[in-house]
Amino acid sequence: MPRWPNQLYIDGAWVDGAARRTWTVLNPATGSVLESVALADAVDVDRAVQAARRAFDEGPWPRLDALARGRMIFQLAERIRAKLDDLAMTDTLNVGKPIRDTVGFDVPCAADLFESYAGLPDKIAGKCYGTLPDNVTMQFREPMGVIAAIVPWNFPLTNAAIKLAPILACGNTVVLKPSEVSPLSALMLAELAHEVGFPPGVLNVVHGTGAEAGTALVRHPGVDKITFTGRHQTGVQMLEAAKIGMKGVMLELGGKTPSLVFPDAPLDMVVNGVITGIFYNLGQVCVAGSRLLVHESQHDELMERIVAKVKTLRQGDPTDPKTQLGCLATPQHLATVNSFVERAKHEGARCVLTGSLSKDANNCFYPPTIFDRVTAPMTIAREEVFGPVLSVLTYRDEAEAVRLANDCEFGLMANLWTSDGTRALRVTRQLRAGRIAINGGGALRPNVPVFGYKMSGIGAELGYDEAVHEYTSSKAVIYSLATEKSPWPE
Ligand code: NAD
Repeated sequence: MPRWPNQLYIDGAWVDGAARRTWTVLNPATGSVLESVALADAVDVDRAVQAARRAFDEGPWPRLDALARGRMIFQLAERIRAKLDDLAMTDTLNVGKPIRDTVGFDVPCAADLFESYAGLPDKIAGKCYGTLPDNVTMQFREPMGVIAAIVPWNFPLTNAAIKLAPILACGNTVVLKPSEVSPLSALMLAELAHEVGFPPGVLNVVHGTGAEAGTALVRHPGVDKITFTGRHQTGVQMLEAAKIGMKGVMLELGGKTPSLVFPDAPLDMVVNGVITGIFYNLGQVCVAGSRLLVHESQHDELMERIVAKVKTLRQGDPTDPKTQLGCLATPQHLATVNSFVERAKHEGARCVLTGSLSKDANNCFYPPTIFDRVTAPMTIAREEVFGPVLSVLTYRDEAEAVRLANDCEFGLMANLWTSDGTRALRVTRQLRAGRIAINGGGALRPNVPVFGYKMSGIGAELGYDEAVHEYTSSKAVIYSLATEKSPWPE
């Protein structure tokens, strides 16, 4: 069992919350207690923002030589790799992710993110405008200030790294609020940053609830920008908070990814791609391929193959390396997923695969579930379930497939399956989504930006140009070369 820090990390030191309250972190696979962690309130958030403010306004970090800044970020990547087993086990125990996923993806991806962004600081460049002959006009790119970063529980360490790597590379200071459900790996990350020697106040981690610590953080006047990943309903509250202080805001929100399978698609690849797309991390993925759009001529064969294969998936103890499907993150989330399933049945969708729920209320195992003959107006076709629930819809022609794919308030991602390259690009141009994966390959890459169309977000996560745009401020500088004074106002 790894050893976990259980306090708040503020101004380079480990401290209890001002009110000395704690929060019990549970293992959703067993219901057992993992750790009791300090819970931040508005007083603690204020201390963290003030520390970040001082570190930004007076400290060395934003003024550090760019290569030196990059080296520290790189060292953090190396420390994450050295701690791979403990970090992976932490997220596995904390949110029920299979250990093969945390070892194979979550932790290596977090390390890759820091390594990749370690190379950014000395590439950040401004512009020079050729305007009038008697002046030089420049645009500087400067660190933006104190960033409030708020993340959800579905990829605890990776979500933190997605925010922190570009924020730190751009020379900002940050207050990170992990989800109250999953604070342990974020606190371990703070411990590793401390060992590397990041100056006090550059990275602060306050664990607290959204309603209390989260609200205090986004409303704090010392924060320059809010960057948030979570539900779109919470995103709306971020916009309200940002409005008060005229803060910048970047939102990465929910999705309802359609997978469009065309009759010329390579079916073996489709079967695996569709199953991974929706059941990986038990569907608790923003880009989970939750809507399968299949041509009516292929429907029966594809359904048969998908259902047969899903039945072979191994669900169970997340710490067992053979386990492919773990459990949901909390009993509350299980109840939400289950209510979507009940509603789908009530609205007339045909349930072709499910399993029985565990009788033990302490664990959060939910079986992979597939609904067939889903129609566009049904709730299950429109709202984000964030669980292992696949909805299958049929279409008659390409135009109807595109119409169904776009008939949704989210626009995070879409999957296309076809061997016809012209069709792939034609359909891509009609889809209203920020990321299109053609014949698989939609995985997260540090250098590829994540955009959300419609209710899926504002701004861009990752991507080097986009990160510089999101996390630096622009300053226009006009330098006059004139040697004669202006005739006016004499
Ligand atoms: P959530 O919105 O409930 O919570 C996210 C974070 O916001 C948590 O840290 C929470 O404590 C905090 N929070 C909640 N209310 C707040 C408030 N009023 N003020 C400030 N902070 C507040 O989301 P969740 O259920 O934890 O995560 C699941 C959601 O995250 C899904 O909708 C999923 O699609 C989305 N998500 C999106 C992406 C992406 O890149 N677009 C990635 C991962 C997850």
